[in-house]
Amino acid sequence: MNAFIKKHEYNYIKRCMQDLNNAFRSSTDANIIEATRAYICNKILNIFPNLSKEEKELLDITKINDPLYIDSYLNELHEYVYEMPTTTNAQINKLFKKEKKLKIPNLDLQDSKNVYLGWLDESTRKLFVAYNMNGKLVGMTCKLTSSSSNNTHMCTLCNRIGKENDVAFVSAICKTDNTGEGAYRSIGFDICLDSDKCNDRILSVEKLERILKDVNNIK
Ligand SMILES: [Zn+2]
Repeated sequence: MNAFIKKHEYNYIKRCMQDLNNAFRSSTDANIIEATRAYICNKILNIFPNLSKEEKELLDITKINDPLYIDSYLNELHEYVYEMPTTTNAQINKLFKKEKKLKIPNLDLQDSKNVYLGWLDESTRKLFVAYNMNGKLVGMTCKLTSSSSNNTHMCTLCNRIGKENDVAFVSAICKTDNTGEGAYRSIGFDICLDSDKCNDRILSVEKLERILKDVNNIK
């Protein structure tokens, strides 16, 4: 069986399995557990429109009858998560060619199954995001806006709520059709500074793709 699960779908299944774990631990009523398990199983199967018999079998969580098996099940499932296409330093350099002294992440240390590639350059206070959209690598530079407020922020991508050192407000300059003098537009949003952790929480790529399209003027 080949990889057939996207990372954000895997994160969704992980979230569902937490619910299952809670059901096991908070109820001793076998009927309630069974009903919850069937409900969760349906929720998982519903996000995959075209499953083979084998894939469906793997995703059938009704066979899990003890919370102790949840972790090993998730490990097994992780083998079927797609890898990101390999990204090279040259590609990153090309993507961010306007950046002077671009800091390139150690690509060997990146989790190959992440949704997006993200890294922070503390010295320039910039967070870089690269993402493979329909086979094409797109990116954006997110500039951290200095703020000393103690407000909490919610990451647009994964909904994580945190303080400024965890989830920060950033702005990204958008490419425009209008090349005339003074043509300038930027958008602002909240995003996790720890991209690896953000990647482990994303349940949908919709917002990420929408922002990247906006910034890169992709229609
Ligand atoms: Zn996040």
